[in-house]
Amino acid sequence: PPGGFKQPPVPESLRGVQRIIAVASGKGGVGKSTTAVNLACATARALNLRVGLLDADVFGPSVPILMNLAEAGMPAIDERKRMLPLENYGVKCMSMGFLIPEERAAVWRGPMVMGALGKMVRDTAWAPLDVLFVDMPPGTGDAQISISQQIPLTGAVIVSTPQEIALADVRRGVNMYTKVAAPILGFVENMAHFVDADGRKVYVFGQGGVRRTAEEHGVELLGEVPLDPSIGTSSDAGRPVAVSAPDGGAGRLYEAMARRL
Ligand code: ADP
Repeated sequence: PPGGFKQPPVPESLRGVQRIIAVASGKGGVGKSTTAVNLACATARALNLRVGLLDADVFGPSVPILMNLAEAGMPAIDERKRMLPLENYGVKCMSMGFLIPEERAAVWRGPMVMGALGKMVRDTAWAPLDVLFVDMPPGTGDAQISISQQIPLTGAVIVSTPQEIALADVRRGVNMYTKVAAPILGFVENMAHFVDADGRKVYVFGQGGVRRTAEEHGVELLGEVPLDPSIGTSSDAGRPVAVSAPDGGAGRLYEAMARRL
């Protein structure tokens, strides 16, 4: 591989998991978790595949809320001492948020975080799965590299807004994931535009930036997701549009992206 990093060996817990797809972003707040959750739900619902979702965003876990599992309690332990993922919308989920209160994770140091992540990878009964989505922590630094050294990624989907600052981060993301031997499966442009009362698309952050960056890198643009309040409100209520409104515009968009992965 170009950067010299090799794919890590497959831990036993991930044998029987066909594909592992990281959902990544150069910075926080661009809609990475929203995208990960909706892609996972759309893949389970529309493609009828066995889907998992690992919340690797250990400092800011959002999977419990977004998947309506915040009140689901702790994961059960099986006879082999493995944690059983909590399931909703046909997606098997594991998150730090299931295991400890968020304010405690927030004061953890790097090595403790990596230890906890390793447990969620190795000590969880993931298999059999067709695809495991990994909601990565935002950024493209050491934390992301060490996660890629623990999880044999099939590839990465990079989420970005059209803003130039986010695009610079996208370039760093492409370089980093390529270095750890995880091919870039595609970009998702999030909050690309909003649709005004007359049905016109308004490009708040400029038009075409992510598409140009995608072309520059020879990467597929999987989809352009509008800035749509219903995407945010439904996620925050634990009802991702991919399951609560699969036939709406956003729901169909996530389904189309899931089919392209
Ligand atoms: P990240 O994981 O990159 O930090 P989130 O997925 O948590 O970002 O999204 C940040 C905020 O933006 C959340 O409140 C979310 O509901 C909202 N959001 C994400 N995507 C959209 C969208 N396309 N339209 C409207 N709101 C969105």
